[in-house]
Amino acid sequence: MKKIIYFTFVIAFSILIIGGCTNNQTEVEDTPQSIEEVSDYEVPKVYASFYPIWDFAQRIGGERIDLELIIPAGADPHHFEISARGLADMENADLIFLNGLEFEPWENDLRSIAQGNVISLGEYARPLPFGDDHHSHGHDHNHDHDGEDNHEHGLMDPHVWLDPNRAIDMSSALLDALISIAPSNENYYKANFEELKDELDELDRKYSALKDIENKKPIVVSHNSYGYISDTYGIEFYSISGMSAEQEPSLRVLSNIIELVREKNIEVIFFEELANEKVAQTIASETGAKTDVLYTIEGMTEEEIQSGMGYISKMNENLNKILEAIQ
Ligand SMILES: [Zn+2]
Repeated sequence: MKKIIYFTFVIAFSILIIGGCTNNQTEVEDTPQSIEEVSDYEVPKVYASFYPIWDFAQRIGGERIDLELIIPAGADPHHFEISARGLADMENADLIFLNGLEFEPWENDLRSIAQGNVISLGEYARPLPFGDDHHSHGHDHNHDHDGEDNHEHGLMDPHVWLDPNRAIDMSSALLDALISIAPSNENYYKANFEELKDELDELDRKYSALKDIENKKPIVVSHNSYGYISDTYGIEFYSISGMSAEQEPSLRVLSNIIELVREKNIEVIFFEELANEKVAQTIASETGAKTDVLYTIEGMTEEEIQSGMGYISKMNENLNKILEAIQ
């Protein structure tokens, strides 16, 4: 961990002494009078696996963490494979935040080299298993990992961050971890967290309006990511393909969805930002619906990050699109 120490040099100039009558004596003297320590704080080295966690960490840690994003902008986290060098870079990290819940297939590799301080924030966010009470329809849930290791994966729905309440849980666990590693920054981190929490609470209040709308149409999406929004706010989602943005649906699933779209008079087929929109377009042109993007916020582009667009603004955009689509 590095420490940043700022010094202010207060430099006093001695008075220019000019001899009164003879005008022959001139003396200038520079004397450092005091060195004042203005601030001295710890800056832990922190890694965040993908965008929403990076955003929460940036908001809470501010200038008092040295933060890096593991999965690069624009990459699909479900498919991202970390290089040996990428792993080695994290060996000396103070903290590494993952989503967990099988979202990062390389979690075990990382845990074997980074001693401790790897924190899976999704575990703190009341995760739910995929299942009849919590899922989108018309897909299977398999991740396409290589299956070499024998641990069971894909049982829990990893997309916890798409529920603002669970985003608060994740941020709160992130806050605790930052404080434990850099306790002198406690007040600073806490103040930033409170600001973020207020915005997430506000987001939850806006999403809660979804619950009061009657006779909602279901939403058709390409990617099975919205189970927590479904659960929390009472929206029905049907997903065209499974977990991965690139998974191809079967013909049976495709024709079921087309039937559903016609029957319920669904006007928008959503695909997520990293998906191939072809399948959504096929369904749209079959049924006369239009296509639009519903964000999973799994991968922001470099330009979006640069433009200051964040988790909150994407969630607000999603809400407006959902509101329009269900009525
Ligand atoms: Zn996903």
